[in-house]
Amino acid sequence: MSSSADVAGQVFLKPKRAQPFFGRHPWVFAGAVDRLEGVPDDGAVVDLRSHVGNFVARGLFNAQSKIRVRLYSWDEAVPLDRDFFKTRLQRAIDLRHSVLKLNPAADAAYRVVFSEADVLSGLIVDRYGDWATVQFNSVGMAARQQMIGELLTELLGVKGVYRRTEKGIPKLEGFTLLDGSVCGEPPPAELVVSESGLKFAVNLTEGQKTGYYLDQRDNRAAVAKFCAGKRVLDAFSYSGGFGVYAAAAGATEVECVDASEAAIMLGMRNAELNGLTQLAFVKNDVFNHLDELVKAGRKFDVLVLDPPKFARDQHSLPQALRGYRRLVQQGLKLLDRDGILVKCCCTGLISMQDLEDLIAQTAIDEKRDFQLLTRRGAAADHPVSVTCREGAYLKCIIGRAG
Ligand code: SAH
Repeated sequence: MSSSADVAGQVFLKPKRAQPFFGRHPWVFAGAVDRLEGVPDDGAVVDLRSHVGNFVARGLFNAQSKIRVRLYSWDEAVPLDRDFFKTRLQRAIDLRHSVLKLNPAADAAYRVVFSEADVLSGLIVDRYGDWATVQFNSVGMAARQQMIGELLTELLGVKGVYRRTEKGIPKLEGFTLLDGSVCGEPPPAELVVSESGLKFAVNLTEGQKTGYYLDQRDNRAAVAKFCAGKRVLDAFSYSGGFGVYAAAAGATEVECVDASEAAIMLGMRNAELNGLTQLAFVKNDVFNHLDELVKAGRKFDVLVLDPPKFARDQHSLPQALRGYRRLVQQGLKLLDRDGILVKCCCTGLISMQDLEDLIAQTAIDEKRDFQLLTRRGAAADHPVSVTCREGAYLKCIIGRAG
């Protein structure tokens, strides 16, 4: 009887195309593939071979995706079976628990598995106290969801594992998947987690992303240091992450702006959970709101711009850059002399260098000096694999505008 770990096919690369995969890049695009031997189902195990037939790596096949094979092991002796995935998950968990020490509290929230960065391409796992949320972003991982749910329950001791789907992914990968329980109990409508001694309400079934923006944890703490006694604007605030940190650090006034009603409600709940009264929440489009604030002559000391991803492909990049430039331009107008600008960007196609250039140009146009204080990325539970740096999507620049 064949098992899901058996090698179901051999994928041969075109001549001279093997180097990136010997170099452990995990995505084999269709254009690099010369031929296929065998008839693997989507999600089945295949071996990747050079044009002359040398073993390169072992991965999971998908005829529907531009990423024809995702690679997981470079050792021919290792089957991609339950033990393999258990070991990989354990290694990811060890990083968060033993190295980063992210789980001291029962209500801790952190990313447990970050896809390519944990050599588990297509799998994202976040932990929120007694629950885990899972995103299956490849057909190979989706096909193994029961096994992964069971392993996570065993290794993390959670009460339940809940599946979230990211918009657009099922189409790219050619499968349908709905949000729902993978195993154990479904999560409660509101779960309260702690971060840096603060409390945040998270809705795992309805909230954005998997419920909360865990990637900004360290950036929120870094920004809080500048906020005591200051007037703070948190633009694109979602559940009020930056604003709550700022208020707790002693900001005199904090205005949080988001276009989503649900986000505003969550932000208000978080202010209440932390007993903070100096926060105001405004439901508005940030572009309009910044224009209104500029027109009204308002000034702030600290300004956070944390917009969603503006571009998914090269085609939409110029418009995305115009959007970012507009935000920085209006932001600089709102910042008092020597105010702190926090500019975040989660568009993977825009590099740190691009972002610095954009800020530099805008500061020149606005006749402001700008000192780069720190250049930051995502928190360390969102590591970046050196062989797949596409994972370094989040940039956060903190600077002072003279
Ligand atoms: N800073 C947040 C995360 C922000 S995510 C944190 O630390 O948790 C981006 C947010 O921008 C989302 O909440 C989304 O609702 C909001 N958003 C997207 N487009 C917007 C727009 N044009 N105006 C206002 N908010 C917008």
